[in-house]
This record gives sequence, C-alpha cells and structure tokens, in this order.
Amino acid sequence: MRLLHLMLIILSFEALHAQSSSYILANVRVVDVKKGKLWKGLKDVHIKQDRILRIDRHQADLLGREGVIDGKGHFLLPGLWDMHTHPDDPEVWRMRPTNTEKDKLLGLFIAYGVTGIRDMAGDLELANSWKNRIKAGELLGPIIYAAGPLLDGPNPMWDGSVGINNEEHVPIIVDSLIEAGIDFLKVYSLLPRDIYFALNRYANSIDFPIVGHVPMTVKPSEAAEAGIWCQEHLLEMLPECSSREEDYYAKRIDYGAASSRLEQYIVRNQFLLDTYDPKKAQKLFKLFAKHQTWHTPTLSMWYKNAYYEVEWSKDENYTQYLPKYLQKYWTPAVNDHLRNRMASLVQLKKNQVDKYLEMTFAMHKAGVPLLAGTDVGANPLCHPGIGIYNELEMMVKAGLSPAEALKTATINPAIFLRIDQEHGSLETGKVANMLLCAKNPLEDIKNLHTIRLVLNKGVLLTEQDRLHLLQDIKSYFDQVNYK
Ligand SMILES: [Zn+2]
Repeated sequence: MRLLHLMLIILSFEALHAQSSSYILANVRVVDVKKGKLWKGLKDVHIKQDRILRIDRHQADLLGREGVIDGKGHFLLPGLWDMHTHPDDPEVWRMRPTNTEKDKLLGLFIAYGVTGIRDMAGDLELANSWKNRIKAGELLGPIIYAAGPLLDGPNPMWDGSVGINNEEHVPIIVDSLIEAGIDFLKVYSLLPRDIYFALNRYANSIDFPIVGHVPMTVKPSEAAEAGIWCQEHLLEMLPECSSREEDYYAKRIDYGAASSRLEQYIVRNQFLLDTYDPKKAQKLFKLFAKHQTWHTPTLSMWYKNAYYEVEWSKDENYTQYLPKYLQKYWTPAVNDHLRNRMASLVQLKKNQVDKYLEMTFAMHKAGVPLLAGTDVGANPLCHPGIGIYNELEMMVKAGLSPAEALKTATINPAIFLRIDQEHGSLETGKVANMLLCAKNPLEDIKNLHTIRLVLNKGVLLTEQDRLHLLQDIKSYFDQVNYK
C-alpha cells in the first residue's frame, strides 16, 4: 500500500512537471495589486518555464488550441505569501510529529495558492532540506525564508532556541547562524534589553534582516528606534498606548477583589484597554512610519483564539486535512494557548481583538507598512494555506479595502524581502506564481475561496490537481498511527 501511494505521488509530480515548459493561460482578468484594480480587458498570460514571458490582450481564437488553458474570464492574482508561519513549530515538538508529516504541511500552502512563506522558527536543518528538495522538484512546497532557531534570553521559552546571556557573544552567534543558512534573525520575548539592542546593532551593521517579538523588557518605540525591521503580533504595544503607562509599569493598578494571578492578569490587561489613548497611539504609529518599521499583526491568530469554540466547528472542513498531531494540539486539552476558557478571560481576549483591529487600521492610515501572517503552527485554527484568506478577511474587518489587504500578502512581502523585482505582482519577467479565482477578490476578499487554479513556479495545478493534492495529503495523514 505504502509503495503504491508513494508511486502515485511521484507520478502526479511528473505529470505536473510535464506541463511546466511553455503554455498560455488565456482569457483572464489580471488583478494589479500595486494599483489595487483590474487591468483593462481580458488578457492572455504567456508562461515559459517558471516565468511570465509576457501578458497580451486576449485573442479569442487561441482558445481550444494546444498549450492554451481557458481562464474563463476569471481573476488572476500573484501567488500569496504567509509572512508568519511555523511548519515545524518547536512548541509542537512534544507531540512528536514525523518529518514526513511536516513535509506534507507544505503542500497545503500550494493547494491554496500560497507560494511563499516566512518560516518564523523551527529546526534549521529541516528548513534547509525543505528549500533544497523544493528547488530540486522532490518536494511540493512554497518558497521559504527561514529564521532557524529563536534568539531568546538565557532561559529560553521554547526548545530549540538559542539562549543568549552575554552581549559579547552576539556577533559570533549571528555569524554562525548566517553561515548555517538562516535568512533572517528572529528575536524573542525573554531577551534582556542590552542583548536585544546589541542584536539590532550588529544585524544592522551588516544589513542583515532582524525581526520578531518586542521583548517584555523593551518598548515598541525603542525597538523601532533600535532598527528592528519588523514587529510581530502587536506585542507590548498596549502599555505604550495607555494614558496611564507609568501607573501600569509602576504597578499602580486597582485590583479590587481580584485575588488570583489569573484574575489580576485580566484586570491588568483590561486596564490597558480602558486607558487606550488614540493620541498616544498615533504618536507611536507615526514613529513606526518614520522608521518604516513593518508590522505583522497576525489578527486571525488573536481572533481564532478568542472565538475558538465557534471557529472550531466552522473550520472542521479544513481541520480534516491536518495531521493528527495538530488536530490534537489544537484542542484545549493540550494547547497552552487554550488552557483556560474562563468566561472573563475569553471576554478579555475578545476585547483585545477589537482593539487590535482598531490599532491595525490606525497604523495602516498612519503609513505603517503591514504584512499578512497567520502564525500557523501551535496556535489553534491558524491553518496552513487557507489561513491566509482568514488573515486578509481580518485586515478588511479592521478597515482596509480588499485591495489594500491583498497588498499585505503579495507586493508588500516582496518589497519587505527585497525580491519585488521577481515576485509580488503579475508582470513580464516575474516568477510565474499565481492563483485564479472565479470571483473578484477586489470586490469581496472572501472571493479568494473561489480559487480554481494555482501556478507554482510555472507549474500548473488545475482544479482537479488541487483536489487530488488535498486528497493525497489527507490520505497520508489518515494512515499515520498516532497515539
Ligand atoms: Zn509565531
């Protein structure tokens, strides 16, 4: 059985590669993500190997010819990027997933038109092997930019992190990680201030990307001024936006009858929401804009957690395509992020989501560049692939137009990664990564769900190929024994 299954997968890969040389995707409407509108009229997109050879006005007499795919007047977008992913999340290592299961997760991104990801921490050797096997056509997966290990304080939060306890070690650690193949540095919550600043100084002195959590000991404004390239999850921002920031830091908060640690946590965090000062926030956002500090708010991660119970049943269709270790990890019985579902805590989380939506829109209006990221991995219901549709929906819920939201998963990631000459939009000479939707996502971002075709580095996945791929992945996960 196993062998037969493997042969089927290899066969389907060969079938896919056979189509990858030269063809025309005809009769499509092209979404110009830079301008946020459709190109005028119908187009024919000529593909040669992994590139867009050119884009012409549609010629009706091409349809039906060999090497011509009819796009049926549907809407063509550049391949999407998920800029916050953990296909090999250290937090989930205790569920003991196999490497093959992790490999298979990568295929899910492709099935939904996510042709590039930022891998925000995991085993570096595995990430390097993914990149090599994907390049060689041995594994189906997106383009990967990987962090490797998290850089954390002397007692790191998660397995596999590099704990740094001395500022003087910073250059040696960074140089050796670059040597080992990382694409950027990912800093984490427990870093001491001096080491955080030393990391930013050194990374910027060699113009090497540095991104991540704002540590608990650092303010977001300080992080921006230190030269962090990108901040994740809106962490540590509420205190700096509070009209009573000093009281918060000096612990001058009235806890009333709250006695347990959890109750006090809720009071403290609700205090931050109640004292949110839009003017102070605006000052902070202007600073981000001035430094061009990018932000990945991961709104759907916050939302899925706050509304977990409702979202779980809504997502059951997608959950079936996950490996059993993730299906299990995404339940309150084992998941650290769902440990307590006490009503007052869940209400706090919902209030926080509302504030994060408001802040994201205010940042956007202030000119802070945004990236779409799901935090797929340990966090419940942040799905590989389709999760990015949820994130873009949240961006629209925050107040961005669908066109503005789409930028955060297409041209913005390409600009941030400095690869916009080759990626991020549909233009002659760029890499042929794209997806075709039956309905226009510029009108309603939910129309991403009408995805029909995917082009992955020029390789066409028809609707049938996509469904086969999903079925292949599901069958593999289904036959893995998991206790
Ligand atoms: Zn993350």
